[in-house]
Amino acid sequence: MKILITDDEAHNRLLMEKILSPYGNCDLVVTGKEALEAFEMSLLDGAPYDLVCLDIMMPEMDGQEALRRIRELEREHDINESEEAIIFMVTALNTEEHVVQAFFRGGCTDYLAKPVTRDKVVEKMRQYNLIEAA
Ligand SMILES: [Mg+2]
Repeated sequence: MKILITDDEAHNRLLMEKILSPYGNCDLVVTGKEALEAFEMSLLDGAPYDLVCLDIMMPEMDGQEALRRIRELEREHDINESEEAIIFMVTALNTEEHVVQAFFRGGCTDYLAKPVTRDKVVEKMRQYNLIEAA
């Protein structure tokens, strides 16, 4: 499995990497812009990411904009819905409902509320069949 972890805070990137690295190859990027570049590269290489984790608050391009543009890239590359990447938005604990709804409209698969824990991530991965049920 190919995994893209996007967060502007090193601590969060490393935490996600620690949780996810047993399940696949993790690439770590710092901004939405870098996420978009990495995602496009993976499409051009014919080996797109299976899972993308996007922090919301990042410099240059935030998670919501990155989400929208990643879905655009998939359409441009004729990726159909069943082949789309699983995208988890990583949200602050106090993220308001209307903001969360905007992520779904932007095409995210689901969201993870901070603080992120191994249990939360693994449960979501099972839910979307990235890993087998226990
Ligand atoms: Mg951030």
